Amino acid sequence: MFNQESLKELIKKIVAIQAPSGFEEPMMRFLKNELEPLVDEVYDTPRGNIIGIQKSKDPNALKIAIVAHMDQIGLTVFNIDSTGFIRFKKIGGIVSRALQGQHVRILTEKGAVYGVIGLKPGHVTPASEANTIPSVDEMYIDVGARSREEATKLGIKMGLPISYSMKPLELAYGYMATPSLDDSCGIATLIILANEFKKNPIKQSIYYVGTVEEEIGLRGAEVALNGLDLDLAIAIDTTSAGFQPDVNMREIIYEVGKGPAIHIAELGAGIKIESQLLVRWLEKIALKHKIPYQIGFQHGGTDAMALMQTGSGIPSCSIGLPRHYSHSPIETFQLNDLENLIILLQKAVSEINDDFKLNRI
Ligand SMILES: [Zn+2]
Repeated sequence: MFNQESLKELIKKIVAIQAPSGFEEPMMRFLKNELEPLVDEVYDTPRGNIIGIQKSKDPNALKIAIVAHMDQIGLTVFNIDSTGFIRFKKIGGIVSRALQGQHVRILTEKGAVYGVIGLKPGHVTPASEANTIPSVDEMYIDVGARSREEATKLGIKMGLPISYSMKPLELAYGYMATPSLDDSCGIATLIILANEFKKNPIKQSIYYVGTVEEEIGLRGAEVALNGLDLDLAIAIDTTSAGFQPDVNMREIIYEVGKGPAIHIAELGAGIKIESQLLVRWLEKIALKHKIPYQIGFQHGGTDAMALMQTGSGIPSCSIGLPRHYSHSPIETFQLNDLENLIILLQKAVSEINDDFKLNRI
């Protein structure tokens, strides 16, 4: 059985992998290698999704997908100016307010080039600008190059991905702050569950699915399950938590430390309802095993909403790991919650029996 210490080490290993949306190859290789000894079959698709399968011998077994996204938010080089400073665009919903003063790494073919996101000296910032954030188009990265040639010599060119360069930080009481917790915690969940079900095989067939480009519109998940004839899918992702000084409870009801979040629905441009059958099933399992959990609404979409629309429709839902400071380099969570999330899924999937009905009426 896994424990919090091994979970912490696994998270540290995964967040060290840089995989902004569209540039997921390092995470694809990692996940495929990790799954290889644990599953009967694992492959990557040309689109970039990874599918690992533990096949049941029972022809009536359900086919269940457990899904996490491999990509993370980031930036990309838009241009290098004549003085060697680098302009960039966002990949996904990186928080603009968290950018200035950050350490970043530009992921070149020769390896990472480190830089900082500069800002106007405080001493010459007029009062009118002091409390405002410049637009991302006005921001720039300083890698130490003072001409375009110097930057180019380092391997920097247009279109390269850029990621935060900050290490995980352990806080008191089992809290941890790290960039790209979203969705390293989901990838960790896939690996741990594949290990558990390898050691203690279950009746159902399990598909471990790593998707690409979630952060730029659930794009990998839209096609990941096509042709696989699955019965149900569960996406694992982070979810925004409130209970911090600048969030009103009316906005977010999830709390870090109170257990995994079972989402009833996802809020975005409109509301999207998850499979209520799966929501009720997860809640029942949590209650049965006295696993702490929360139930509520997810802000923003997860892969579940795309999976649901695959083929003729796959009942899907998502479970969230509550974390503070979403899409910043200090996404902060509690290991307890991740441990409980994994236990909840493990119990839910392994205890599905013949009475489990997927039809709604
Ligand atoms: Zn995510």
